[in-house]
Amino acid sequence: MNRQRLHQPYLKLVIAAGAAICLFCAWRLSLAQLDFRFLVLALVTIGFGSRLGIEFSRHKVQITVSDSLVFLTLLLYGTEAAVLLAAAEAFCSSFRFARLWVTRFFNLGLLAISTFVTASVIGHVFGAPEALGREALSGRFVTAVALMGFVQFVVNSSIPAFRQSMKLDLPFRQVWREHYLWTSITYFAGASAAALTARLVGGHGIYALSVLAPLVAVIYFTYQTYQKQLQATLAQAEQAERHAAEQRAISQQLRESEEQFRSSFDNAAVGMALVAPDGRWVEVNHSLCEMLGYAEEELAARDMQSVVHPEDLGGHLSQVYRLTHGAESNYMMEARLLHRDGRTLWAQLSASLVRDVKGRPLRLVYQVQDVTERRVAEQRLQHAAYHDSLTGLANRALFADHLRLAMERARRHDDHLFAVLFMDLDRFKNVNDSLGHAHGDLLLLAVSERLKRCVRPEDTVARFGGDEFAILLNGIRNSTDAVRAAERIHEEIALPFPLGHHEVFTSSSVGITLSSLGYGEPDEMLRDADTAMYRAKSQGKGRYELFDKVMHARAVTTLRLENELRRAVENSEFRLHYQPIVKTATGHAAGFEALVRWQHPERGLVPPGEFIPAAEETDLIVPMGEWVLRESCFQIREWQRQFPSDEPLFVSVNLSGKQFTQRDLVAVVERALRDSGLEARCLKLEITETAVMENAEGAAAMLKRLRELGVQLGIDDFGTGYSSLSYLHRFPVNTLKVDRSFVGRMDEANEYREIVRTIVSLAHTLGLEVVAEGVETRGQRAQLEALSCEYSQGFYFARPLPPDKIFEYLSNDRQPSETFAADTEAHRAVELADNYSM
Ligand code: C2E
Ligand code: MG
Ligand code: MG
Repeated sequence: MNRQRLHQPYLKLVIAAGAAICLFCAWRLSLAQLDFRFLVLALVTIGFGSRLGIEFSRHKVQITVSDSLVFLTLLLYGTEAAVLLAAAEAFCSSFRFARLWVTRFFNLGLLAISTFVTASVIGHVFGAPEALGREALSGRFVTAVALMGFVQFVVNSSIPAFRQSMKLDLPFRQVWREHYLWTSITYFAGASAAALTARLVGGHGIYALSVLAPLVAVIYFTYQTYQKQLQATLAQAEQAERHAAEQRAISQQLRESEEQFRSSFDNAAVGMALVAPDGRWVEVNHSLCEMLGYAEEELAARDMQSVVHPEDLGGHLSQVYRLTHGAESNYMMEARLLHRDGRTLWAQLSASLVRDVKGRPLRLVYQVQDVTERRVAEQRLQHAAYHDSLTGLANRALFADHLRLAMERARRHDDHLFAVLFMDLDRFKNVNDSLGHAHGDLLLLAVSERLKRCVRPEDTVARFGGDEFAILLNGIRNSTDAVRAAERIHEEIALPFPLGHHEVFTSSSVGITLSSLGYGEPDEMLRDADTAMYRAKSQGKGRYELFDKVMHARAVTTLRLENELRRAVENSEFRLHYQPIVKTATGHAAGFEALVRWQHPERGLVPPGEFIPAAEETDLIVPMGEWVLRESCFQIREWQRQFPSDEPLFVSVNLSGKQFTQRDLVAVVERALRDSGLEARCLKLEITETAVMENAEGAAAMLKRLRELGVQLGIDDFGTGYSSLSYLHRFPVNTLKVDRSFVGRMDEANEYREIVRTIVSLAHTLGLEVVAEGVETRGQRAQLEALSCEYSQGFYFARPLPPDKIFEYLSNDRQPSETFAADTEAHRAVELADNYSM
């Protein structure tokens, strides 16, 4: 702005004018006028003038002694002396408040100009000022003094007010009014004091001052003290005011935060409560009341303990104790709370403690969140993890847990006896197959209900899947108690089950084992109960069996066998022997049955009867069976090449029931054929009647798929199982193998001859070929020939032989000697060469 730009030149102008005035006055000053008094006056003015003063703090106006002294100098010594003294005093005193030289010179200039103007005006109106100083007190004198104060004031305030208005770019009048108007008082006061002093000095000489000085000093210091006290009082009042304002602000803040707390407390979506350390509700919010089903006053009339579930109260109180005794600063727990209507709900409690000023527990602040839904979901999941979904009974995992607890108890208390019962329904499969799974499920449900009726609440009934149930009888007196329970179960299960429109009868097989046998692990006990159950089943249906030492020994042997078998599979310890299947009419080999043997490192060659059942039990039969299949396909293909014929040799391979239910069986067979290059029609798979009948529907489908591959199918050991010809037409098989128990007795009893005859003729009616197994004598062979039984197999022709012996055998067989088939002696020779016979 323009005015601001004028500021610097203005400063310089004032300084220059002041300097010019000072030079002018110095030139005019006559040193003769000045005396010792002047020297004292000048020193006092410069040294203390601006330091001694009275402040009117309300208006920041200070009357300093220097003003008076300058006026006094004017009245006593005239214009030049006053101007120079004022300039010198202004310059010196400005060192106390101004850092810039320009400001210091500006002050010098200002005082020089104002004093000079004042002196000039007085001189003009009233004549020389020093002459005025000697005048008596009169109206003229008073007017002159007033004019002196006035002019000094006007000039002295206008010049800096101009400067400030330029610097700050504010209107001059505003600056002058706000900052300088009140200073007028100092000039009048200064002028008056100077006039009085001049009068005094004029009348009584300088020494009058020494009389007056103590009085002035007393008044001055009294006034100073009064001012200080006044200021101290004012400061105190100010401080008190400030303090009160702070207190007001704090209480306002408190009120606001209290309001905020109240609002969030009242409107919180979660339950909130303030609780006294003894459990009384101090305040409860709406959500909490709603959660617990109480009106606010109703809830407030009770205490917190009355809404905590009795089973969780102990935990809750101990947490409160820890909190109030400083062990924790807050806690969180899940506890059950009681709804007004008696319902139980799960809540997450978060609590913190508020203490009073002395540190004593004052309030517990609770946040209560309803987590019932989550807990119920968790419980449901947990229930599902430990219970059977169909019957709601315990599952294997939970049963094992309970069993483990019982075992631990038995270890602590010698007299604690318990039993595990393993139960399996007889013929459950029949119900499932004939009535469907829905009825099967109904039966299982009904059975589980009856089982629960047979035991006490402290016992555990579990379903392990399928129709297998386990029962833990806890705390029985002796084995008789367990047997009685088994009998009760038999009786219950033997009663008819009404299932929809049907009435189903079934029975159960139960295996029992007692804790007194000293078990270490739940699995061991379950395994033995299972073993006993199998024994009961094999003894006939509807029985129970107690696991005993003999069974135990057998179980141990089985276990060892299983382990050894596993190793055998890994180490390829299996070998194949082949037994010729001959055409009954000619006695020439048509094919071979592959029969597995185990080359045991210590026991030598082990017959299949001793390890096949164990292999089936452990599923090791699956990899073993696959090996047998592939190995025999390759072997027979080799012999086909070595001994070519119009009717190529075939191989019969035994399939176990387990293999038969393998989903990939067809793929496995297909691969064996493809890899070996054997024609499908040269492979015959033998399946026992039992394996087929155990899962008739599945078996029919599997047999169909195998037939589609082109392989031949035969029923092995026919006559020992279901002994029913009626189902045969349902299965797409090619051959029946009459069991050796019938063939072997054909010589002795007519009855067996008849059976074999019936089987052969029936098979022929169905378009099946017959193989007679276990032919040991010439007579048997003759009879079979008479019955037109196509094929025979048995020691009479040859025992199962290792491959190299079969090569010899084939070498003889395929360079036919006329007498080979009839000549028993020749067969004996083969037999003697066989070191591997049964
Ligand atoms: P199987 O399929 O009925 O096999 C015929 C069994 O009768 C063979 O016993 C054979 O040595 C025996 N045998 C043959 N001719 C006579 C005879 O004139 N008199 C007497 N007393 N017995 C004769 P082995 O080799 O001990 O096989 C027993 C059973 O083991 C077989 O019965 C078969 O069910 C099973 N088996 C053998 N090898 C395998 C196999 O590789 N896989 C499967 N799953 N089972 C096999
Ligand atoms: Mg067989
Ligand atoms: Mg057989």
